[in-house]
Amino acid sequence: MQTKLLINGELVEGAGAALPIIDPATGAEIAQVNEASDEQIDTAIRGAEEAFETFRKTTPAERSALLLEIADVLEENAQELAELESLDVGKPWPSAHDDEMPLTIDTFRFFAGAARTMSGSAAGEYVEGHTSMIRRDPVGPVAAIAPWNYPLMMASWKLAAPLAAGCTVALKPSEITPLSTLRAAELLSDVLPKGVLNVIHGEGATVGDRLINSPQAEAISITGSPQTGMAAMRAASNQIRHVHLELGGKAPVIVFDDADIDAVAETVRYGSFFNAGQDCAQPCRVMASEGVYEKLVAAIEDQVKQIKVGKQKEEGTEMGPIVSDIQRQRVAAFVDKARSSSDIVCGGKSGEGPGFFYDPTIVANVDNKADIATNEVFGPVVTISRFKNEEEAINTANAGRYGLASSVFTADVGRAMRVSSSLRYGFTWVNTHGVGTPEMPWAAMKGSGTGCDMSVYSLDAYTAIRHVMVAH
Ligand code: NAD
Repeated sequence: MQTKLLINGELVEGAGAALPIIDPATGAEIAQVNEASDEQIDTAIRGAEEAFETFRKTTPAERSALLLEIADVLEENAQELAELESLDVGKPWPSAHDDEMPLTIDTFRFFAGAARTMSGSAAGEYVEGHTSMIRRDPVGPVAAIAPWNYPLMMASWKLAAPLAAGCTVALKPSEITPLSTLRAAELLSDVLPKGVLNVIHGEGATVGDRLINSPQAEAISITGSPQTGMAAMRAASNQIRHVHLELGGKAPVIVFDDADIDAVAETVRYGSFFNAGQDCAQPCRVMASEGVYEKLVAAIEDQVKQIKVGKQKEEGTEMGPIVSDIQRQRVAAFVDKARSSSDIVCGGKSGEGPGFFYDPTIVANVDNKADIATNEVFGPVVTISRFKNEEEAINTANAGRYGLASSVFTADVGRAMRVSSSLRYGFTWVNTHGVGTPEMPWAAMKGSGTGCDMSVYSLDAYTAIRHVMVAH
């Protein structure tokens, strides 16, 4: 198993403490990976700084070719990378291989095209005798931090856009799920010039903290929890750095009386419990119009009770375990707190065996202000609450701290337009939830972050707008 870090072109074992990597389906240790020492973290970001001097001058066509090569290498090794991902995070094998790898690979192919679309918006004489140009240049070396829920896909979002823009990267995957990213780093060490990509390993509060506070990092890019986003903003404020944050979510699913109830129930089954609910856009907060509430609760219960929970490669497994015991305890605490004031329709308990399983859980009759309705649970738990009218639905959805994903289910096009334009969320789906594509932004508002991943707009986080004026 590949456990080496990629530091300034060299594959080396971490010189810090060994951290155990656990299979969440059994609780057994898969491997140990050594953290990067302080010196190694500094070498990684200095390597990115040195490489930037050359890489920033590459043409868009050259970077595009590299991104296409990355996609090809990942595709050739998709089987092995998906095996690691499935083992490390506990994902059902079909999700890791058939759902996540294609999007991970396509992200690099999209940015190979996007690299060649960047342009400044002006060239002309705005002052007599002077010609102005607007340039869009890479900001510099990026300190990037990724989470554990989709380790390689999130790494691809943290890498493809800055590389397309001409930035170099020092990336830290989550300390509990580094395996796929470390293997990808080994594969890409033959593709990318020395120092353009560096991958280190270690705990957030120590290794991550040192990385985001490096003087050489001109931009900090985080996908993670709001707490980590705040740490990044503090680090950025110490040195005045660009900061790009994709953080937690609490997605409302607003269901009106005229909605297709079966479609909503299927969306909950296949969307809310995908990846055991550990998804920032998870449709986790169903808000039902009073007229349809009872019918919707019954339809969702019927669907969710059919979910087959199991180990990664067990035949028919639809949902695997939660990533760690700590995360399972966090999820269980939310549900336990809600028991006395709401109805546990199904689930609400840990699975049997040594792994970190938790049953697919529906909590109905939930007060819109309850902890479980307003905070991110990040597990296989969906709440259902009621609303009286359109205005109340919008106000309740907008009252939360988060602003990432949301959806509206209705047959009325006018209402879909009114509600979607009033929601303060980075993205809103109508009559579906969770469908993503690299061409479109994965955008954050409010407490869910700044800017977006994917789409040409994500290049804004990694480029600076510059004015060059020539007197003549
Ligand atoms: P986390 O914030 O605990 O960890 C994320 C990463 O940040 C890890 O690599 C961790 O080591 C690092 N980290 C933690 N503290 C740090 C610090 N002080 N300095 C530097 N790095 C630090 O999040 P997680 O538990 O791994 O992931 C779950 C969270 O990620 C959820 O809130 C989820 O919604 C969010 N997420 C958001 C998106 C999105 O696109 N918006 C996508 C996936 C996950």
